[in-house]
Amino acid sequence: MIHIHNITKTYRLGQTDVHALCGISLTIEQGDFVAIMGPSGSGKSTLAQIIGLLDSPTSGSLIVADKEVSKLPEEELALMRRQEVGFVFQQFNLLPRTSALKNVALPLFYSKTGSEEERASSLLEKVGLKTRAHHTPAELSGGQQQRVAIARALINSPRVILADEPTGNLDSQSEKEILALLSELNQQGITIIMVTHEDEIAEIAHRVIRMRDGKVVSDIRNRPIAEHALLSLNSSKEADSKSQPIKDLWEHFGQGLNSLLTNKIRTALSVLGILIGVAAVVAMLAVGRGAQKSIETQLSSLGSNLLVLRQGSTRVAGVSSAAASTLNLSDVDAVSKGIYGISRASPVINTKAQVSWSGKNWATSIQGVDLPWEQIRNSTPTQGRFFTAEENQSRERVGLVGATVVKELFGGRNPIGETLKINKISFLIIGILPVKGNSGFRDNDDLIVIPIKTSIYRLSGSERIDSIEIEVRKVEDLDRVENDLYSFMNARKNIPASQAENAFMVNNLASIRDTFTQTSKTMSMLLAAIAAISLLVGGIGIMNIMLVSVTERTKEIGLRKAVGAFPRDILTQFLVESVVVSALGGVAGIALGSLITLALGTITGWATSVSFDSIAIALVFSCGIGIIFGIYPAQKASKLSPIQALRSE
Ligand code: ADP
Repeated sequence: MIHIHNITKTYRLGQTDVHALCGISLTIEQGDFVAIMGPSGSGKSTLAQIIGLLDSPTSGSLIVADKEVSKLPEEELALMRRQEVGFVFQQFNLLPRTSALKNVALPLFYSKTGSEEERASSLLEKVGLKTRAHHTPAELSGGQQQRVAIARALINSPRVILADEPTGNLDSQSEKEILALLSELNQQGITIIMVTHEDEIAEIAHRVIRMRDGKVVSDIRNRPIAEHALLSLNSSKEADSKSQPIKDLWEHFGQGLNSLLTNKIRTALSVLGILIGVAAVVAMLAVGRGAQKSIETQLSSLGSNLLVLRQGSTRVAGVSSAAASTLNLSDVDAVSKGIYGISRASPVINTKAQVSWSGKNWATSIQGVDLPWEQIRNSTPTQGRFFTAEENQSRERVGLVGATVVKELFGGRNPIGETLKINKISFLIIGILPVKGNSGFRDNDDLIVIPIKTSIYRLSGSERIDSIEIEVRKVEDLDRVENDLYSFMNARKNIPASQAENAFMVNNLASIRDTFTQTSKTMSMLLAAIAAISLLVGGIGIMNIMLVSVTERTKEIGLRKAVGAFPRDILTQFLVESVVVSALGGVAGIALGSLITLALGTITGWATSVSFDSIAIALVFSCGIGIIFGIYPAQKASKLSPIQALRSE
């Protein structure tokens, strides 16, 4: 049933070639018990590994169960490993931290035949370890471990068992037990091929093949193949049951979870890496966005489409003078009538003054304004009312106070109806201005607003006004109106052309807002970049842990392949593990990130909110890194021949 023809195997060691097998031809009958002997280095193991389908020959042909093995694709080869051969290693190669029962059942995970538990436990019974089913390899003696390994080799009812020095690591009592077990299996019809270099062991074999320097030097039959052995084996093999994607995935999930749980600290570290990265991204993006939003609301509360006209400086005969460009009330009318596109305009006089109420003093800014100012500055009082045209006309001493004045002077009490003194003149408070917050270091709520005429005739005593605040009807007109203002005012005040450039100043709030928005955008980009870096660092951490994990488990991959795992089984296993780790870290990271966001939002008072896209970015990015860097080494390992992977340290 096994035909070997002119097989060679050459290993490349640096510059030199090691010829482990130099043209071996053999036929091994079904039911035989073959011992392969020879001194160390003669090529015994290499031959056994090739027959056991764990390695491929450099040249020559190997036919197992009527199939030319060297021509089989990887998946067919895996199927053959599952169905035809069971391999018993000198080093047992059991999965650590995994029970005897699960070790025995491992090949069934890939072949999916029958009920795992039942079969595995009946085989454990067969090798005399029924009571040890739930012990891990560390809790078993060498002989017991080897018996578990034999049970594992038997689980798919192979026709051939290959044993590479199965007793090499055992005491003489265990050695006897293992040999007895192998003889018994042979009597049941299983072909046994055993590598050994001890003569007394070879005595129980039917045929002894001796090797030296990669060649067969003698081939002696001690006894004929047992008659019943030929008869008893049912040659029909159970076909692998059809694959069921969902059930498969579920089982892989179980396996993945199992191996994650057996490496708790490593798993926790991987999860932590993702967690920190995701939390950072979620929180930073939320904070950046919150800051931006709060700047925008503050800016828009100052009034939209606003231009502020002020006098600049002119020089008369070399002396700086502002007289020519002084603004007064008549200019307000002239401007709003003379320039197209202006919806409202209000004069403003700005003075600093000491105000007092009930023995308390406060220095604040007094703004004399006209009625349109209420709309221009979005300053409809939150309590009380704005002053009326009549009150302005008759220079009434009324005023509206900002929130800071309410707090500092009135201790937060409702001041409407109270009378305060501005520069010792009594004013009646008729309203409270809406809160505008801070812009930079300026407190926009530290002010008292009074009628412009009251300001001129009762406080300043001069007709001169500081600025004209102008609301432009359409945003797209802002620039044009700004230009018109210069030329209109220069003409109106007869400013000579040489002075025209500096006579007046116009502040464009929209452009200031643009600058602010741009700045805050840059800031939040910066925050996001910092977060992305931390995510990247987290990702590199995962990659590192994944690489270590896969490298460390190359042996395990080799074993899984040796018992018949497809390369894609190996890939799926690692993929499932990466996904579980990434998902755990991702979910925990989102939770932590949201908490941080909430905390920062409360501290800064910004309207921070966790957005869906920041969660998506963080998750996709971190999982992607985890998966890619986990899969890459796994794929590399899954491409190794089983024996190469098994040999890795
Ligand atoms: P035996 O089992 O008889 O001790 P082996 O089959 O293990 O012999 O090895 C045969 C020869 O091939 C030895 O010279 C050994 O050094 C060499 N060899 C075995 N495996 C490898 C390998 N993976 N890489 C390089 N040389 C190897």
